[in-house]
Amino acid sequence: MLKENYDAVAEKVKNACARAGRSKKEVTIIAVSKTKPLSDVVELQQYGVMDFGENKVQELCSKYEEIEKPVRWHLIGHLQTNKVKYIVDKVELIHSVDSLKLAKQISKEAIKKEVTVPILIQVNVAQEDTKFGLDTDEVMDLVYEISQLPNIAIKGLMTIAPFVDDPEENRDYFRKLKQLFVDIDEKNFDNVDMSILSMGMTNDYEVAIEEGATMIRVGTGIFGARNYNI
Ligand SMILES: *Cc1c(COP(=O)(O)O)cnc(C)c1O
Repeated sequence: MLKENYDAVAEKVKNACARAGRSKKEVTIIAVSKTKPLSDVVELQQYGVMDFGENKVQELCSKYEEIEKPVRWHLIGHLQTNKVKYIVDKVELIHSVDSLKLAKQISKEAIKKEVTVPILIQVNVAQEDTKFGLDTDEVMDLVYEISQLPNIAIKGLMTIAPFVDDPEENRDYFRKLKQLFVDIDEKNFDNVDMSILSMGMTNDYEVAIEEGATMIRVGTGIFGARNYNI
């Protein structure tokens, strides 16, 4: 069942890439396993899926401890500074950095653990009050400031687009994030490597890919609906 769902997503990714004249190798599917049991992760892992997304530090850490063979864990949810110490050496990528304070804490804990932590800057392109992330016009300065910190490496940008019925409504936001990505890349800041654009979820990942996404975060489309009441 999970395998069929995953394959169906992979097929749509392939077709969206073809429409956009891109190679499907340019797009990584992050299977968002939040609220789902570790057995679901292990089942997909057996089919060769390696990238999993979690939005809570505690859930990521417990799955990290319990899984037998390692996978690549992506932290995609809001991160509080007091929890940074638990994850800096466990994550493949932190998608949700949205302040200098948080970046400084990541840098500090990364030095202690002798790792370099790859991160994305979260941008609230749609300027929704309910979402974390920076306003577009704040991003350039923050990227520069974070690039000066040791043991943290900026790899790109992330956004969570609004929940809409028609994914076309989000196309413009994806386009804006891609443009910002290009603008930052052209600055050639030291220690900034703009290579990852994390945008698109179950409802809108095909549009996101057409607009340049290199990572999509798919939960419901792979694991089915989430139940938050358990
Ligand atoms: C839950 C979540 C997703 C996956 O959402 P679906 O609509 O289930 O695909 C993607 N990104 C973030 C940041 C999330 O919290």
